[in-house]
Amino acid sequence: MDIGQEFRKIKEEVISCRKCFLYKTRTYPVIGEGSHQAKIMFVGESPGVQEDKTGHPFCGAAGKILDDLLESVSIKREDVYIANILKCRPPSNRDPQKEEIEACVPYLEKQIEIINPEIICPLGRFAMEFLMEKFGLKDQIQGISKIHGKVFEPQVTAEDVQSSLFEQKRREIKEVKIISFYHPAVATYNSNMKEILKKDFKILEKI
Ligand code: URA
Ligand code: SF4
Repeated sequence: MDIGQEFRKIKEEVISCRKCFLYKTRTYPVIGEGSHQAKIMFVGESPGVQEDKTGHPFCGAAGKILDDLLESVSIKREDVYIANILKCRPPSNRDPQKEEIEACVPYLEKQIEIINPEIICPLGRFAMEFLMEKFGLKDQIQGISKIHGKVFEPQVTAEDVQSSLFEQKRREIKEVKIISFYHPAVATYNSNMKEILKKDFKILEKI
């Protein structure tokens, strides 16, 4: 299968997914969007109201902040890939539940495996915790207020990390950097947070 076919397969699977109850309350699932050759992948939490209406990731208020942040470091949105931990919106934007995350992350893992990005940027606590654990950095997990903007370079081997992502090893997993940021939504009601995010994003320009 070529990359396009693999992405179409994920899309079909997500559209017909009933692995958690969120399929009942969502309008459209938000699968992910961007370049299949992206070197940078952003991973948010779950679709909000606007995303649920359209099926596009980060297209509401938080998306506007993300667009500004990307622009501030001269990165084009179409050159990165943007996905979420959960593909369907939790009612009233409540936090993702453990069972929902467990049910949904195989889609994200597949997306990471196919894109094989050089840098993965979790946005917010849920994405940070999941991805750091996935890449063998569980010991180094702290609050997002401590970890934001820091570069982690996991030494990933099949022995280190038990997950479908690494077991399949269809493509060699090369070195990857994990850089977590505050979730852009925090900056929609706090301009200090936007400045912190802007400062943290500078690392992407440097790398
Ligand atoms: N917040 C997220 O985490 N993801 C989106 O796609 C939109 C808002
Ligand atoms: Fe399936 Fe994920 Fe949607 Fe749950 S949130 S129904 S696991 S696609």
